[in-house]
Amino acid sequence: MIVILLGPPGVGKGTQAVRLCDALDLRHLSTGDLLREHRRGGTELGTQAQSFMDRGELVPDELILGMVRGELEALGDGGVLFDGFPRTVPQAEGLRVVLADLGRSLDHVVLLVADDEVLVERLSGRRSCPECGSVFNVHFNPPATEDTCDRCGHEGLVHRTDDQPDTVRNRLEVYRRQTEPLIHFYQAGSPGVRRVDADQGVDEVQAGVRAAVDG
Ligand code: AMP
Repeated sequence: MIVILLGPPGVGKGTQAVRLCDALDLRHLSTGDLLREHRRGGTELGTQAQSFMDRGELVPDELILGMVRGELEALGDGGVLFDGFPRTVPQAEGLRVVLADLGRSLDHVVLLVADDEVLVERLSGRRSCPECGSVFNVHFNPPATEDTCDRCGHEGLVHRTDDQPDTVRNRLEVYRRQTEPLIHFYQAGSPGVRRVDADQGVDEVQAGVRAAVDG
């Protein structure tokens, strides 16, 4: 199964992605997490991506597509959930080519929706695990033990530098301008787009996402 989880920054894609991957045994491919790993590892891609990420701008499409192709080739025919990818129409077109080359096809596109005020509030409380990518929120979805990842036990959750207010506003603008057109791109074709109201508790949103991929 191949699933794309779409939605603005802060809508809860990371949290829902981890849960859906655990439930359906999918590989979680978060291009944001992959880029952060490249930065930590000091790779050439990490260095190239750095300044775009720190400004809340998108990393160029060809760098992202090269990275995703490599990941998909390494994965073989296992199930995948894309989180934070594609982010532009050229990336979606590029994904189509990569999937066709690998003899695979897209099964579901799920869109999480919430108002901007909700997104800004969520991003300000967000903490993520640098080890496994799990995402928590100090207000809405705190870890059982403060500052410790529930999933992998890593101690020391981080507040991303690009979750600071100015960068958050820019990321929302970038989303409206560059990523929202994707909704029409996928709506116009198959498998279509299923919308889930993300302004609910984590469990309710999870049920909505499950219904979207089961239905
Ligand atoms: P995220 O963790 O998905 O919010 O991504 C953090 C940052 O990584 C974004 O603000 C972009 O700078 C970069 N990024 C992640 N995924 C992509 C993508 N598919 N295309 C371009 N840039 C991306």
